[in-house]
Amino acid sequence: MAEDWQQAASIEQLYEAIKDCHRCPLGDARTNLVLGTGDEHAEIMFVGEAPGFHEDKQGIPFVGPAGQFLDQLLGSIGLQRSQVYIANTLKCRPPENRDPQPQELATCTPFLFKQIELIEPRIICTLGNHATKTLLETSTGITQLRGKLMHKGGLAYVPLFHPAAALHKPPLKSTLIEDFQRLREHLDAERVRWGEEEEMPTEEPVETKTEPEQMGLF
Ligand code: URA
Repeated sequence: MAEDWQQAASIEQLYEAIKDCHRCPLGDARTNLVLGTGDEHAEIMFVGEAPGFHEDKQGIPFVGPAGQFLDQLLGSIGLQRSQVYIANTLKCRPPENRDPQPQELATCTPFLFKQIELIEPRIICTLGNHATKTLLETSTGITQLRGKLMHKGGLAYVPLFHPAAALHKPPLKSTLIEDFQRLREHLDAERVRWGEEEEMPTEEPVETKTEPEQMGLF
């Protein structure tokens, strides 16, 4: 029998159905389950890794230093967080902010896919290696994939460096700023694709170029 959360017709209903979740041990240690924030009909959705200390306390994703940088990056392309949707692969804080464990991801990502189904974003920006590997099911690292428009299972993704990584390694900041600048271009490409195609069914992630290829010299 389908569980309540599978029947949810809105983000609010999804939250009500899972807010007391104890399907994995992270549920026992959390202060708040952190589902997501922003426009529930947003064209762009951002997916980070997991709530940290501040997010766990407030029940809102990306409210600590990485979140403040994310707000600045959004501002640099004329967006506020209320115009996008922001979530994480895990909904509860791992102890000491350790990496998500495979079993935790297996338990929690169905909730993320339900969110994606409800929001229907045109582009999902995966922030950092964990979200990218989890959603695109790829072993290719973020350094190679960053900034590229990819398609998998009918959904469009743009992997980006995690804002926290850029705070720790300042040289990554300019790359992240450049990749944000290209998001509008990717969004335009997706608007065209949605106008032209019902669905793009692919299982393997494939890069979709948004610029014409340069002519070779030979
Ligand atoms: N880092 C994340 O990946 N998610 C948050 O919500 C905060 C920091």
